[in-house]
Amino acid sequence: MSETIFDKIISREIPAEIVYEDENYLAFNDINPQAPIHILIIPKKRIPTINDIQKNDSELIAGLFFIAKDIAIKKGIDKDGYRLILNCNENGGQSVYHIHLHLIGGRKLSWIPG
Ligand code: 5GP
Repeated sequence: MSETIFDKIISREIPAEIVYEDENYLAFNDINPQAPIHILIIPKKRIPTINDIQKNDSELIAGLFFIAKDIAIKKGIDKDGYRLILNCNENGGQSVYHIHLHLIGGRKLSWIPG
């Protein structure tokens, strides 16, 4: 499991606009936002893809969703709605191999993704 750019954000080697942090998670604005709100929520634990999660990660993975909805409420997009995306591997469009939940909102999103 090699280090990714997200480890460098966790360790503050590279800057990011952090919107939430606790001992297990970090959430920060995506550098290339696809909507007015585009936030990445990551566990600090290095897990490359969703294929790599283990039973004992259950609580950690669930926590990503709790943080996402709390941020959505704080940003005032919970009522209008938003989208949570977790890409896996090449066909899923994953480019950073440290799992991350995209929280995207602030505009009407189209469906289905290309
Ligand atoms: P993926 O394609 O793996 O699902 O999503 C990776 C996301 O990370 C992309 O939306 C990309 O814009 C974002 N990203 C890549 N490098 C950086 C970075 O250095 N800083 C921030 N804030 N976001 C990044």
